[in-house]
Amino acid sequence: MSHTASKIHADKAAIFCKDEDRVNWHSKALWLLREKRDRAASSLPEWEQLRQLGSEIKLHTLTNLAKYLEMFEQNCQANGIQVHWAKDAAEHNEIVHGILSHHQVKKLVKSKSMLTEECHMNPYLEERGIEVIDTDLGERIIQLAGQPPSHIVVPAIHLKKEEVGELFHEKIGTEAGASDPTYLTRAARAHLREQFLSADAAMTGVNMAIAEKGAVVVCTNEGNADMGANLPKVQIHSMGMDKMVPNLDSAAVLLRMLARNATGQPVTTYSSFYRGPKAGGEMHVVIVDNGRSNMLKDKILAESLKCIRCGGCMNTCPVYRRSGGHSYNYTIPGPIGIAVGAQKDDTNSIAWACTLCGSCTQVCPTKVPLDKIIHHHRRLKAEAGNLPYGKRSYMPVVGKVMGSAPMLNTSMAMARTALRILPGSLLKPFAGAWGKYRELPVAPKSSFEAWYKKNRS
Ligand code: SF4
Repeated sequence: MSHTASKIHADKAAIFCKDEDRVNWHSKALWLLREKRDRAASSLPEWEQLRQLGSEIKLHTLTNLAKYLEMFEQNCQANGIQVHWAKDAAEHNEIVHGILSHHQVKKLVKSKSMLTEECHMNPYLEERGIEVIDTDLGERIIQLAGQPPSHIVVPAIHLKKEEVGELFHEKIGTEAGASDPTYLTRAARAHLREQFLSADAAMTGVNMAIAEKGAVVVCTNEGNADMGANLPKVQIHSMGMDKMVPNLDSAAVLLRMLARNATGQPVTTYSSFYRGPKAGGEMHVVIVDNGRSNMLKDKILAESLKCIRCGGCMNTCPVYRRSGGHSYNYTIPGPIGIAVGAQKDDTNSIAWACTLCGSCTQVCPTKVPLDKIIHHHRRLKAEAGNLPYGKRSYMPVVGKVMGSAPMLNTSMAMARTALRILPGSLLKPFAGAWGKYRELPVAPKSSFEAWYKKNRS
């Protein structure tokens, strides 16, 4: 799939939308996940109570974050875990590199970490001579394809099985033309096993960090985090500071919802709790801020840190499903990507990659008010004078016209006349992107106001 020089969401989405078949099955595949999620959620009568509890647990932890982070650090240290603090992506990468070079690591196996994507860690380590192998099947696929993930739970969802077959043939020597998923998965498993056995260190993301226990929880369906963490001597777990939960009970509440909301499974196949280094080994936890404490200062934006990264909001989002994850100008796409990434978006476009339909908010297991947050981002952009180009120039005019009844009536009368007498080809360019895929409306005989006066008053 080609990439564009423009980083504007609509331009990138237009590239994805050129392949209509891909758009259709992409949308369908994600909707299938949404349906599975609905079935899983409705199988638990207490689902809504869990959501409320999940939201309260996360809010409580975020409100008392300093206390829980300190408790976590102390308990980790008591368990023999080395804890590191990183204020930003650069510091995170330096810390990880420091640990790896201390142990002369040449190959690192990595599992499930959007945070390392956010920190652009792979290229950083590779430039310093350390090979990084993503071991989640989906992540390995896109790593071999040289692409970023397009979804946080199913990162290669945008690729067809034939494309994966071709890629595997080229990179790991599977049969030419083979696209059977079972065959390809087996080949990937054999390929990854070699990587696990030859790695000098392992790294995983963190789904939850339990303050009271000094432990981290890592969820995978393939057991790849466990293969990685248990084989080499050194294991590193990188986490955003928002991953904190107070205790095991809170983790249990969120675990009941995570997989159900992601893929419709009752629980992920492997939910592993790491609470100390293996005999003769080393365990490190890197806690990363990278803009999170700034978000906490804004009451509305702070709620996006309640997210447990289930991906449910992407699966239901009509814009994400039909524009693809690579159209967002941020590591994390979809509604939650806008919520946590819009401030860093220098194109000021992703806050508008949303219809504000609110479907994401309805499915979120921790009640992140995504539509409210996205709307808030738009307001912040407008207040900072950072509206996207088109909106910056025409929205003030639209505001003036809409705010004045005579101006609105006159312009509507002009539009009705133009629609009646001018050819569509002349008018369509004025309809912008909206008109590209739509027929222009037939002009009504009179305004709604005139009709109302005549028939109802
Ligand atoms: S915002 Fe909610 S629905 Fe979206 S990924 Fe996070 S927890 Fe899941």
